[in-house]
This record gives sequence, C-alpha cells and structure tokens, in this order.
Amino acid sequence: MRAATPAYDLDVRTDERRIRAALADAAHTPFWLEDPGRPATAPWFTGTTETDLLVIGGGYCGLWTALQAKEQNPGRDVVLVESAEIGWAASGRNGGFVEASLTHGPENGRRYFAEDLDVLGGLAAENFREFHDSLLRHGIDAEYQRGGGLSVATEPHQVEALRRAAAEGGVFYDRDQLTELVRSPLYRAGLFHSDGVALVHPAKLVWGLKAACKKLGVRIFEHTPVTALTNQGCAVRARTDNGIIRARQVVLATNGFPSLLKRNRMLTLPVYDYVLMTEPLTGAQLAEIGWQRPFGISDASRQFHYYRKTADNRILWGGYDVVYHRGGAIVPDHDQRPETFDRLADHFLRTFPQLGDIRFTHAWGGMIDMSTQLAAFQGLAMGGKVAYSSGFTGLGVAATRFAGAVMLDLLAGRETARTRLRMATRRPLPIPPEPLLYPAVQLIRRAIARADRNGGRDGIILKTANRLGFSFDS
Ligand SMILES: Cc1cc2nc3c(=O)[nH]c(=O)nc-3n(C[C@H](O)[C@H](O)[C@H](O)COP(=O)(O)OP(=O)(O)OC[C@H]3O[C@@H](n4cnc5c(N)ncnc54)[C@H](O)[C@@H]3O)c2cc1C
Repeated sequence: MRAATPAYDLDVRTDERRIRAALADAAHTPFWLEDPGRPATAPWFTGTTETDLLVIGGGYCGLWTALQAKEQNPGRDVVLVESAEIGWAASGRNGGFVEASLTHGPENGRRYFAEDLDVLGGLAAENFREFHDSLLRHGIDAEYQRGGGLSVATEPHQVEALRRAAAEGGVFYDRDQLTELVRSPLYRAGLFHSDGVALVHPAKLVWGLKAACKKLGVRIFEHTPVTALTNQGCAVRARTDNGIIRARQVVLATNGFPSLLKRNRMLTLPVYDYVLMTEPLTGAQLAEIGWQRPFGISDASRQFHYYRKTADNRILWGGYDVVYHRGGAIVPDHDQRPETFDRLADHFLRTFPQLGDIRFTHAWGGMIDMSTQLAAFQGLAMGGKVAYSSGFTGLGVAATRFAGAVMLDLLAGRETARTRLRMATRRPLPIPPEPLLYPAVQLIRRAIARADRNGGRDGIILKTANRLGFSFDS
C-alpha cells in the first residue's frame, strides 16, 4: 500500500503562479520593525567610564537583565551596550510567542532536565506570570494577549500523540470539534492549552524594555560593539571601538553571535528561521477560516510551522525550514531565502486554501542560537565577574527574562532554586567544528524529515544522535 501524501514536504505543490502572485510585493524586511513607534537610537559610547554592571547585547536578554538589576538594586550603576540598534536581531524579528516552557517543551525537558522537572515547572510558571506583571508595572504596551496555544495534527500518527499529551494538560479536539476554533482541510485533531502561551508584538516589547531601562537610569549606548574583555582582577575591562568601560561585573547577552569568551564559541550553532506576514485579513476571510480568538498555532511535526494573528488581523506564518548556512557566518544575506519563502507560501496555501488570493506583505529571516540541549544555559567566567546565557534555540521571548534572573543570582553569589538547575551548573555538549558540521547537520535534517514521514519514529541516525546527547530535532 502506498503511504498517504504528507500534509507538508519539501516539494512545492501549489500552483507556481499563485505563489509568485502571493509573494510578488513582499518587502524583505521584518514587519514589526516598521512600526511608527520605533524609538530614536541612543548615542554610541566614546571615552572611558566605570560601572557596577556592564550588560553587553541589546536584545531581550540584555534588556531584561538590566531591568531586573535596577529593580533589585536601584542604586547600582548599569551600562548596556549594543553593537547595532536595540532589537534589530532576533528580538525584533521573532514570532512573538511568549511560551512559559524553559526547556523547549515537555519532551525535551524529560530528555535533558529530568532531575529538575519538578522545580522547573514552578519556576517557568512564575517567570511567565512575572513577565506580564513586569509589562504592567513598567507600562510596556507590547500588545500582550494571553490567548493560549493550539497544537494541530496534520498527520495520522500525530492524532494519537496529541490525545496522549492531553493526559498532561490541555483539551483535545477531534477533527470536527476543531472547526469551532479554526478550519483547515489539513487538520485531523488539535490540543488546546489555555495557559502558558501568550502573544506579543516583538518590537514593541524590545522598545518598551529599552524605555523602561532608560527610565530606571540604565545608561544605554547603541552602535557600540564590545571587541574584547580583559580580566583585571577586581574588574573587567571592555574595549569598544571608541573607548574603554571598566566594570565590576559583566553580563554577556549576545545570543548566537560570536562569544567574547572563546570557550563558549562552540556551545551554540547559528541557524536561520524564516517567516511570512500576510496582508490584514478581512472579516469575511477570517470567517472563512473560523479563526477568531487570539491563540497561537503550531503543527505537531518535528519540522513544524508556527502561526499567529496580529492586532490588525494579519497572519504571521513561520518555521519548518531551520537552516544552517555552511561556515556559520551571521550576515544580512542569510536573512533572505527565496526557496524557503516559496515553501512557506506553498504550505500556507495548502493549509488555508480558503485564502487563495492572499498576498504576503513581508518575508524575512533571522538567526537563532541553537544549543545541543535545545534550551538555554547560564554560567560564570573570569573569576565569577562575567555571567553569560545563550542557546535559547528559538524560544527566548520569556526564557530570556528567566536567564537574566539566573545571571544576576550567579553574579551575586546567591544560591537559589534557579542557580541549582542543570542549565546553570552544566554546560551543554559542544557543537562539532567544520568541515564536519555542515554535512552532519544536513544528515540530521534529512533524518528528521524522514521521521516526520515515518509515523514520527526516530531512525538510526536520530537514535544515535540522541544517545550521544545531541539533538537538533526542534
Ligand atoms: C524568525 C524568528 C522567530 C522566532 N520566534 C520566536 C517566538 O515566537 N517565540 C520565542 O520565544 N522565541 C522566538 N525566537 C527566538 C527569540 O527571538 C530569541 O530567543 C530572543 O530574541 C533572544 O534574545 P537575545 O537578547 O538573546 O538575542 P538578540 O535579540 O539576538 O540580541 C543579542 C544582541 O547582542 C548584540 N551583540 C552581539 N555581540 C555583541 C558585542 N560584541 N557587543 C555588543 N553587542 C553585541 C547583537 O547585536 C544583538 O542585538 C525567534 C527567533 C527568530 C529569528
């Protein structure tokens, strides 16, 4: 018997003309960053200065850390430096899913963080709550909507997997019931979680955090790359293009960009993720697909799509292809990948054929810092004066806030439930170097695609990779 055609695969199946028409006018820039609320850029740093805490990196991780540092101790002097503009990187171009999970989902949690699972659930829920409380406290309007998340089965084997997962929480919807929430001919079932998932406007979040930091007195400098750190015993010297900053303590919040700590460079892999944004849907179009409530959706494949609506009823549609570009360079050219944009458009049109004439207004990509444990890690260097966190693997909107709290605990020498976690005490396995890396990643990607086509079962390559402690199966 021939296997049924999978809902999604690498072959573009939608009429080529329809894809061309849908993508014809798409701007190749992140939709979110075009918002008129974009703030003025802070000046760059020149000269010399001293500070209690230097935060390097102006994405969510750096900003959440600076904000919490000031909240904990308003008298502490905090300087934040960003090599380009605050929010230009992942933090201004992501999907805006605020997920409570700190482990990239329960399965990965069981695999890598089994000894911490009891504690992690509580810490994740607390961080998720405090995330929203912080927005309210600092008057940050990031279009926060706590509408929950829906996982949809598009393949037969995923139906049972979702039914089983419902035993741990959430409401299972069969194919017919699911049409009450959203309609697609590809859907076979769904699992809805009303808690633990919210949505934000990513750029409004990063800009709001910047404004809150400034209000609390954080000294912010943009277009100020730090080029080297030197341990000077009782302080750390950070060299920038035009100056020197002497800091008692330093936080490295530089995501998957080359770490200023040489020994961390092999702990993350820069991979690229891509998204499309549609034009705003009309009331009639929304009624066609029946998607009225503000929940996010992802499909239950290993190579999955994630999608959500915006405040003006566009659909952001992303994921599936996660691409490692040979050599691992982080360059603007990689933010564009026409082949992936075509594939995403094809998959969108297969999912919602009711929206046949839809146009995409934006198409872009961005770098994600993948770690072999598919979740962030934190640690200390330079005699306990430098804290770092990286490896968020595409799920950092809420987890970066938590990472900031862990780094501040570590720098203060506080032993807490957070600092006892495996993610703060053990480093993930390093990523093998080139020329091994590129072919290894391709091998694993193909194995993941095969597993998706093969009832979700791991083949020998994935089993071996998992046994060795490597996993690229997000
Ligand atoms: C397309 C896409 C979709 C995503 N969707 C989601 C989602 O829906 N939900 C979710 O939870 N996560 C998502 N993510 C991941 C999430 O965006 C990231 O995990 C998060 O933004 C990481 O924040 P960050 O501050 O660590 O990194 P960044 O935002 O990358 O910030 C790091 C900053 O450090 C600066 N920097 C680097 N080196 C230096 C230096 N030497 N000196 C000074 N500055 C330096 C960089 O310029 C950069 O601005 C997505 C990511 C992408 C790319």
